[in-house]
Amino acid sequence: MNSFTKEIMQKDKDHFMHPWTIFDVYKTDGALPIETAQGNYLEDTDGNRYLDAVGGLWCNNIGTGRKEMADAIAEQVIKMSYANPFVDMTNVPATLLAAKIAELAPGSLNHVFYSCGGSTAVDTAYRLIQYYQNCRGKHAKKHIISRDMSYHGSTYAAMSIGGKKGDHPAEFDFIDDTIHHITAPKQYGQHEDKSEAEFLNFLLNELEQKILTLGADNVAAFFAEPIMGAGGVIIPPVGYHKKTWEICKKHDVLYVSDEVVTGFGRLGHWFASEDVFDIQPDIIISAKGLTSGYLPLGATIFSDQIWDEISEDGHGRCFAHGFTYSGHPVACAAALKNIEIMEREQLLENVTTLAPYFKAKLETLSDLPIVGDIRGHGFMWCVEFVANKETCELFPEEMDIGKQISNHADAKGLIVRPVVHLNVMSPPLTLNKTEIDFIVNTLRVSIEATLIDLE
Ligand code: PLP
Repeated sequence: MNSFTKEIMQKDKDHFMHPWTIFDVYKTDGALPIETAQGNYLEDTDGNRYLDAVGGLWCNNIGTGRKEMADAIAEQVIKMSYANPFVDMTNVPATLLAAKIAELAPGSLNHVFYSCGGSTAVDTAYRLIQYYQNCRGKHAKKHIISRDMSYHGSTYAAMSIGGKKGDHPAEFDFIDDTIHHITAPKQYGQHEDKSEAEFLNFLLNELEQKILTLGADNVAAFFAEPIMGAGGVIIPPVGYHKKTWEICKKHDVLYVSDEVVTGFGRLGHWFASEDVFDIQPDIIISAKGLTSGYLPLGATIFSDQIWDEISEDGHGRCFAHGFTYSGHPVACAAALKNIEIMEREQLLENVTTLAPYFKAKLETLSDLPIVGDIRGHGFMWCVEFVANKETCELFPEEMDIGKQISNHADAKGLIVRPVVHLNVMSPPLTLNKTEIDFIVNTLRVSIEATLIDLE
């Protein structure tokens, strides 16, 4: 470790409290300082190079360090770095981007409210839902249904909507009187006693019963990621999306699709809701891949139906909600260039072309004694590790098996994301076959090295 690395690590420990800091571990181990990033690769302050198979945090869709992006951002800064987006002033990139998003989004989702990232886009959806239901006189529609193991962000409402147990420690408070969590659609290791069809019926029945128990007149919305990301790449049984959407429609419950991870190409489509799962949500939430992480931006995309209701003539209503940086011109210019690059380089097609190869390669890991499940879609994958393949018994949480394996991978130049029992991958959409081979080969030797450690 060189002296600069030591200095950065010490200053970091002293002053930068990271998201999800585990204090005891952080005080001793510190964090890996990354200094440069180019394409699909990162380099740390000691000059070690890594293939970033997590794409930052599921956000680096076009690869990092593109000059074209830097130029677009610089041009916008010079032309107009900021203008007030409130009330009666707009800016050109924000307007053009809203129109582009409306063109790419499914069905009648023609309206965009901008925020600073995924969490604020979720909180905006939460407030928009309240506003809409009150505008239409449905004042009792206050309850939200979400799922265990879901992640929707870290602002107060977003974290309350999220259902990951580890994210709800006793030291924090949550909205718990009007937000309800039902079973996560994860069959592997949890509902092995049921066939897929039985599990699907169980989930659908649970959703409908929850709506009926609360009273349909009291339920405002259902929140769902098309594929849960942070919860562990959870892919619901076939038919789940369409049928849950139909249940929501039947009971006049808004369907919110949180596409912060799945949007903008991760599953090979601009949005997964319609193109992969054949549903037209009332609201789609987007962030991350919208700018490929070059600048922070979130978008809450909503239907004509919601717009027509809230903006009906003659009420003099005002949606009293917004951020200084709603529709930030530089972030919107970055998003427009990002979309242009994805279109020109046909990155969505790269995902659909290479996804079967990625899947087949990952599946070669299944001969390893602790590889329990390999699941994913497009460029969103995970390997779940188990202590016993027959019973799907997990390792004790405190062993942090995913982290043990990812530590070995780090040392071999590969970044994968450990999530307790899992290693998660969401690489840039520019990934190629050689890089897929590197990911899978490195994972294999990292798992084998961990097996030796466990002996
Ligand atoms: N929704 C989903 C599905 C996410 O995965 C995330 C972040 O990982 C968020 C919302 C929150 O986004 P942000 O971290 O940009 O606030």
